[in-house]
Order: sequence, then C-alpha cells, then structure tokens
Amino acid sequence: MIPKAKIRRLGLFGGTFNPVHYGHLRTAEEVAEALRLSQLWFIPAALPPHKASKEVTPFEMRLHMARLAVGRHPLLKVSDLEARRPGKSYTIETLRILREQFGREADLYYILGLDAVLEIQTWKDYRDLFTLSHFVVLDRPGYDRSHLGEFLRREVHVDFRELPDGQGFHHPSGYQVLFQETTLLDISGTQIRRLVREGRSVRYLLPEAVRRYILEKKLYLRD
Ligand code: ATP
Repeated sequence: MIPKAKIRRLGLFGGTFNPVHYGHLRTAEEVAEALRLSQLWFIPAALPPHKASKEVTPFEMRLHMARLAVGRHPLLKVSDLEARRPGKSYTIETLRILREQFGREADLYYILGLDAVLEIQTWKDYRDLFTLSHFVVLDRPGYDRSHLGEFLRREVHVDFRELPDGQGFHHPSGYQVLFQETTLLDISGTQIRRLVREGRSVRYLLPEAVRRYILEKKLYLRD
C-alpha cells in the first residue's frame, strides 16, 4: 500500500523491470528531482499484458531486484500493488485505484519511455489513461519525439494542444503529457538478459546487488 499522508506529487514508474537497471534508476532520480516529486514508486507489473508469462521472471524476483536497487533511497520506493489483484496488470486499473486512493488533490505523474508511449494504443482503455494522471515521457535512444503531438492527436484525442513552452501537450481533461530530458542511457532488460545468457558481463549496467542476485538465482541463463 502506498501511504497517503503528505504525498502531493507522486511519480509512478510502471514496467516489467526484468531486471531493473541504471536506465530506469538514473531516469527516476532525474525525474524526481526535476519535477520535485514527493515520492517516486516503481510499480512492477505482476502479469505484463504484452508478454507471454513463461518469458517473464516471477514477479517476486523482479520485485526483490527492484527493492535491492532502490535500497533506502529517501524518495524512490517499490510497490507490489499490481500483485494485489488477479489477472493481467493493466495500467488503467492501477491508475483508477491510485486516483481513488489519493483523491483529486494529489498530482500523479506516470512515467514512461517514448518507445512505450508510441504503443499506447495497444494498452487497455488507453484513451482514459490521460484523464487520470499526468504523463512524463522520456526520450530513448533510437526514438524520435518530433511526431508525438501528431500521434497523440490521431490516436488519443484530437484536442491535445501543444504547451506554450513546447515541453509537452495539454489534454482537455486538464492533465498534461510532458517531455522530460534525462541522461540517455542505452540500457534495456533485453540487452542484460542476452548478455547473461551469453555468459558475458553485466557489471555497471545495473546495481551490484542486483547483478549478484541474478547470478545467485541463475536467472536469464536460457530464453
Ligand atoms: P525489455 O528490454 O525487457 O522490454 P526495458 O528495459 O525496456 O525492458 P521495462 O521494464 O519494460 O524496461 O520498462 C519500464 C519503463 O522504463 C518503460 O516505460 C520504458 O520505456 C522505460 N525504460 C526502460 N529502459 C529505459 C532507459 N534505458 N532509459 C529510459 N527509460 C527506460
């Protein structure tokens, strides 16, 4: 459960986190600082809707790695919220639960990479996502953000308006989709799993405690 007291600006970082790595962690740190978030929660998907369940490491292990990664960071936290309900982990359901829990007065910022936004039309009830929370979009190497406005107007809502500073878009609900510049780190879970499978080093791509856990539990040794 995410404690309600005093949380005004809450960052939500959903994903598979298979495993969590410095691409996620450095981004989270920079977003939390830039948006002056009170807390930023990593929310690992219990059953990621887009991935076959046999491909994905058990939730408890991904959760544990995320906890090892954030340690005692004062703002970064890990939530097991998506394991508390049965079935696939749809973001829309998570946002509805959090909106109800925190009420209208809290600012929620859902953080996701440009690669993920450009597939948003494959998410359950995706148009409603933008009526529940602000979105913070991160650049990822290899993805071009120059057509995001056009994409959002075509796929989500025709009345997405560009913000005057060019730093994002405004949805008629009042919520915004904001760009956040962060250090571009070309690291992905796919790359880490492949390196481990090939018996190669993953040192310095992710926290040492997570690297040791992967070796100890013999994760990612096969497809
Ligand atoms: P995979 O390679 O297994 O698909 P991934 O490393 O891309 O995984 P996810 O756990 O699926 O990571 O991603 C969670 C969120 O973090 C997504 O919104 C994704 O766009 C973002 N993200 C992942 N890696 C980075 C990175 N290196 N820099 C910025 N954002 C990232």
